[in-house]
Amino acid sequence: MTEPQSVEQTPLEAKSPFELRVNLGKNVPESDVRTALATGDMGFLHSFTTGSTVDGPGVRVVAWTTGCMWRCVYCHNPDTWTMSNGIPVTVAQAAEELRKYRHGLQIMSGGFTLSGGEPLMQHRFAAKIFAAARAMGIHTALDTNGYYGDRLTDDELETISVVLLDIKTWDPERHKRLTGMDNGPTLEFARRLAARRRPVWLRYVLVPGLTDDPDDIKQIAKFVAGLGNVERVDVLPFHQMGRFKWKQLGLKYALDDGEPPSAELVSQAVGIYRAEGLKAY
Ligand code: SF4
Repeated sequence: MTEPQSVEQTPLEAKSPFELRVNLGKNVPESDVRTALATGDMGFLHSFTTGSTVDGPGVRVVAWTTGCMWRCVYCHNPDTWTMSNGIPVTVAQAAEELRKYRHGLQIMSGGFTLSGGEPLMQHRFAAKIFAAARAMGIHTALDTNGYYGDRLTDDELETISVVLLDIKTWDPERHKRLTGMDNGPTLEFARRLAARRRPVWLRYVLVPGLTDDPDDIKQIAKFVAGLGNVERVDVLPFHQMGRFKWKQLGLKYALDDGEPPSAELVSQAVGIYRAEGLKAY
């Protein structure tokens, strides 16, 4: 196991979310964690990263939350599953961090993205940090698996400029095998976002042998094309940058020998989305 870092030693800013971080919030009393979750005045963050160009439009500052209710077999960041692995951060601290980048983000047509883990595990904190970002005139994006989408009110949805929605697979049985959970709530959230005309970018992780069934991808493509609010689709090739985390956390990793998809497989998946009239990359 990796030696736990202390909060004092660990800066909030990281070079990338692929830094392994564990136990940073372990000294926060359970009652404080409960209060933080209920009020949203404090959240748990794996890190802040800057300069991302793949987590929403333009150049982004990304806050990576800890805590996830899913257990995707190909997860890149299993250290974000446990909330207490994150650094406790108040909304005021997080907003202050964002304030530093406000002008640069506006110049670069970028913004702030809340990713994870699953940010809506901390939905009160998410709502507050989005409200603070929007009050500073910063474009906002939520990267979510959508499972807890119903935790956000309609007004809170209005503070999110774009939702980066991860749909993992269409077939319910396969979804359960790959993530441990049902995809019904995710699809329901997608329908709600469409009904409210909130912009969505679909994110689809392409894993050879697991999520490359053309018929399954076609079902997702048909569904999202019918929604009318999905502005683009990003097919994200599976990679092995998170493999070391599984090992260091002592977790059994089913994809030890997994290969990234070939360029041909990626272009086939992109083609399926495009055939439904979607802008896919
Ligand atoms: S939803 Fe995301 S963070 Fe959660 S297990 Fe799946 S890939 Fe990992």
